[in-house]
Amino acid sequence: MTSRSLSHTSWFAVIGAALLSGLILWETARYARSVALDDIRVRSAYTLDLVVENLRGELAKYSFQPRLLASSTILADALRRHPDEPTIDRANSELERINEVTGALATYLMDKEGLTVAASNWASDKPFVGRNFSFRPYFKEAMQGRLGRFSALGTTSGERGYYFAHPVRDAGKTIGAVVVKMAVARLETAWRASDDVVLVLDEEGIVFLSSKPEWRLNAIAPLTVAARKRLSETRRYAGEPHHQLSLSRAPDSNIIEIGKNDLPGTPNTAGKSHKYLAISAPMNEAGWRVLILADASGVASRVQIALLVVGFMLASAFLASLNIYQRRRRLNERLELQETAKSELEVKVLERTKDLSRAVARLRAEVSERQRAEEELRQTQEELIQASKLSALGRLSAGLSHELNQPLTAIRNYAENARIFLSRQNTATADANLGSIVEMGERMARIIRNLRTYARNEPVGSRPARLCQAIRNAIGLLQPELRKADIDMSLDFSDEELMVVGGDVRLQQVFVNLISNAIDSMTGAPRRQLRVSVELHTTEVAIAIADTGPGIKTADINRVFDPFFTTKEVGEGTGLGLSITYGIVNQFGGRISANNNDDGGATFTLTLQRAESNREAAE
Ligand code: ADP
Repeated sequence: MTSRSLSHTSWFAVIGAALLSGLILWETARYARSVALDDIRVRSAYTLDLVVENLRGELAKYSFQPRLLASSTILADALRRHPDEPTIDRANSELERINEVTGALATYLMDKEGLTVAASNWASDKPFVGRNFSFRPYFKEAMQGRLGRFSALGTTSGERGYYFAHPVRDAGKTIGAVVVKMAVARLETAWRASDDVVLVLDEEGIVFLSSKPEWRLNAIAPLTVAARKRLSETRRYAGEPHHQLSLSRAPDSNIIEIGKNDLPGTPNTAGKSHKYLAISAPMNEAGWRVLILADASGVASRVQIALLVVGFMLASAFLASLNIYQRRRRLNERLELQETAKSELEVKVLERTKDLSRAVARLRAEVSERQRAEEELRQTQEELIQASKLSALGRLSAGLSHELNQPLTAIRNYAENARIFLSRQNTATADANLGSIVEMGERMARIIRNLRTYARNEPVGSRPARLCQAIRNAIGLLQPELRKADIDMSLDFSDEELMVVGGDVRLQQVFVNLISNAIDSMTGAPRRQLRVSVELHTTEVAIAIADTGPGIKTADINRVFDPFFTTKEVGEGTGLGLSITYGIVNQFGGRISANNNDDGGATFTLTLQRAESNREAAE
């Protein structure tokens, strides 16, 4: 998901979830309602069974009494034509006695015209005796030879009762009927304790018995004209008006709604209508229908609780999925960011790599440039060394020619003298002269050998070199100048064979340069002493060349190794000697420094590494 707003798919999911939730809630309500109603139905069916059984039992108790009474001769006598007063009295007493035993409301005897001839309540203030009840259906049924049954309000007593009537026969002919009026009011008192409303309706739909007294004698449905006619003919409820109860019933259920104000005494105090679950059973033998109205107001709250629980679960599920969805979205966004960052990083890395390879190429070019420059420098250095050597050679040549001329002159003299002594047969002296000639020759050969070594072009690099030999060779080369300048030369070293890291030729050149400078500085000086001393250390050797010249000016002391620095006259100094010396010593891995002595003059100190063979011996 790329956009921050919901995509089409998500909208579909939301709408789908909403529809599904609606469906679930609707089903929940339906199910909760049916479960709640089932509960009520089961309970009220049980109540209904109890009520019906109870009614049947009560009715059964009285149903057979009239039949028993019909066989009584006392009663039959009272129905015979013109009974005398004692017969009627006997019948009254008998009925009163029996009524007392059975606990009926009244027990009485009617003749075939419907006139009451004797009654249990003959002595009461509202006796039935003398009253005609022929309009009552139970009388008619009895006169037709059947057991008459009827529920009605007493026209004399105003008391509800259930009537059983049985024909009284004499010689096969029906001469009257005996009637037992059973009390029903006490049945209702037992129902009052019940939460449910218990109603007993008659055939016309009028409430005959009710757990709620206020509902009595009200009609639950509009009375038809025929019904009204029947009621007035039978005087069933003694002309009492019947209030019409508006019980509306949902078409597909047994829920009965009782409107407000319709039923005084219903628990609709808030002025609302009240709902009941209705369940009924017929009691055909009594002409009744028993109706139980179970309070269904709790159904709504049970449905509400179920809806709340399921709604809460749905809301939790919705929140959980929202949470998961948001987490996934955040994760996707983060992944996208990471992807972008990664590709940006890759681009950067590529750029950097390119930069780096360019830098590497530049560095390589620079390195090869440096190498070439270094090579050129090295070559120039070598050429310089060579050039400076040649210039030194030129400088030396004057002294050297003198040095060579001297033995040559001596050789000539010795040779001439030897010839003279030989001619004089003085062979001994001639031999001595020849010996001197040989000696001179050797000396000349040594000078020339030194010169040859000096002029040789030695390859760059370090190898073991003989220190003392290099010093002696340099001194040998500079002998004519030393002598000419009248310099007192002293050497101070213990080990003739000492080896240092260097190269024979270049080391010799170093000493030629340093000793030449010392000779130059002491020319015309009052004290002319040159001292070369060697000091041994574990890995190094320090060689000091100290003169007694004027020394170096303090300002110049750091510049003497600079190329072309010279204090000498034009044509006398090049200013290259010390700089070349410095370079050579560096090549050997050594050091060189210049100092002024306390008692005048300068000392150049050279530090060289001892060659491996020496160092091992020393250790
Ligand atoms: P050059 O000898 O051709 O002048 P160098 O490089 O050999 O060149 O010497 C540079 C300078 O160092 C000299 O001109 C001199 O002034 C000074 N110098 C070198 N050696 C000595 C020394 N022993 N005493 C005093 N000054 C010296």
